[in-house]
Amino acid sequence: MALLKIVKYPEPVLHEVGKPVTEFNAELKQLVENMFETMYAAKGVGLAAPQVAVSNRVFVMDCSGGEDESQKIAMINPEIIHTEGEQIAEEGCLSFPQIYIPIKRSFRTIARAQDVSGNWFELDGTELTARCLLHETDHCDGIVFLDRMTVLKREMAKRKIKKLQKTGEWD
Ligand SMILES: [Zn+2]
Repeated sequence: MALLKIVKYPEPVLHEVGKPVTEFNAELKQLVENMFETMYAAKGVGLAAPQVAVSNRVFVMDCSGGEDESQKIAMINPEIIHTEGEQIAEEGCLSFPQIYIPIKRSFRTIARAQDVSGNWFELDGTELTARCLLHETDHCDGIVFLDRMTVLKREMAKRKIKKLQKTGEWD
């Protein structure tokens, strides 16, 4: 296993639509293992392939932060199939260090995806799980959480990013 480098906004790969995965081979399993290791090391609850400069529709998540093995989930070719309600909570992203902004998301989300062997499954979650499913599926579509902020909050975040870039805290 190996730690991968997490790319930061505005790296172009973060804004590309990820390619669907068609080969469920050893290379994919290795990528997923490395992504889990990288996510845990960075203390994140989700990490998508574009964030490690791989433009594919793959993400890993664990909303328990490594406490509960059943929440360690890899989703390949994810699709959101149902959303309902809404929630507003502070959200962060490993490609935007130190940026935490309240964002409106669905309260409940059902997603479907393939596992590393290619078998389809569904995941039905609320609160943080729903938020994570939406945030990471967005990454696979080339959408970052900045795109989901209100105009005012986006400007605020961009100003803070500029400041962090200037002081060298963005690398
Ligand atoms: Zn993110």
